[in-house]
Amino acid sequence: MKYYIFTLGCQMNKSDSERIAKVLESCGFKSAPTEEGADLIVINACSVRQAAVDRIYGKIKKWQSGKQNKKIVITGCILPLDRHKLHSKVDLIFDIKDLPNLPKMLSIPSLLPITHHPLLRNKREALIPIMTGCNNFCSYCAVPYTRGREISRPEEEIINEVKQSISRGIKKVVLLGQNVNNYGLDLKNTSFVQLLKKIIGIPGNFQISFLTSNPWNFPDQLIELIAKEPKLIKEVHLPIQSGDDEILKKMNRNYTSGQYLALISKLKSHFRPKGECCEGRVSNLYLSTDIIVGFPTETKKAFENTVKVCKQARFNKAYIAQYSPRPGTVSAKLYKDDVPKTEKKRRWQILNNLINS
Ligand code: SF4
Repeated sequence: MKYYIFTLGCQMNKSDSERIAKVLESCGFKSAPTEEGADLIVINACSVRQAAVDRIYGKIKKWQSGKQNKKIVITGCILPLDRHKLHSKVDLIFDIKDLPNLPKMLSIPSLLPITHHPLLRNKREALIPIMTGCNNFCSYCAVPYTRGREISRPEEEIINEVKQSISRGIKKVVLLGQNVNNYGLDLKNTSFVQLLKKIIGIPGNFQISFLTSNPWNFPDQLIELIAKEPKLIKEVHLPIQSGDDEILKKMNRNYTSGQYLALISKLKSHFRPKGECCEGRVSNLYLSTDIIVGFPTETKKAFENTVKVCKQARFNKAYIAQYSPRPGTVSAKLYKDDVPKTEKKRRWQILNNLINS
């Protein structure tokens, strides 16, 4: 029997897919190089954007057509409304937290003990979740509804996974969470900075990066640690989402554009090589961001504010999304999706040309 995992969405989903692969291979399944050759397809879904949901329906239709009668299973980030609609179209929908029970749910025997460890198909990089969920409820975002509230993994479990990855030759560990800087708030006697220090202390030739951080919770201790520790990659992903204060308020982001700029200026001040000019990308910090264009009520002037802030911030890379309302979120309930598609596309193009070209 062969399996194929179709992964949509963020690094967290990619990391979960490695764990799904491990469980299936513990049951004797082999990986199919393409979806056509698979008997079992696992969709690790993302319903954070409508485009991803549309792709899921398109794929299911294809796999269920003609002779391609495959078993289809869905997990990942699925909003309740999407879950309801998908229910009759697939063989099984399960929550990723129930992954160890997958063989039982599929009525297949497992040949080896089920582990929670990833398969590590990528031989150089290990994606290691340190926490799941989010408490922030940004008004446009589905994550608190699909993944629930923040839960940190125990330090010991994370450290063991890092050690195992390094012993298997991994050179880069990427620590994942929707809000990594909040790591440990639900545990006793730990914090993200403390966890990082313990991982840095593990012997071996490897590097560490992490995502995602949020601008309202980026302590000075963390900035200093990134600047001084050679094992920490000098990259920070810091979503700004908008450069307009009114839109930020409607997004329920807890900062203003001025506070965001002050934070990155502080960050960059720790990295600027001595003697270099402070203008432009002379800093050895690689700064990336997420931006949403066309959020409801975003006027041309509000968008111009985002352009202005991006020019000041001088990001190295931006992941730009065109707003789409997700059912059940606050922005979908409160605001009409009133920016035309063509205008969203135009704004996307302007920012993409400015930052990514
Ligand atoms: S911080 Fe906001 S955008 Fe990020 S996962 Fe949490 S709710 Fe979503």
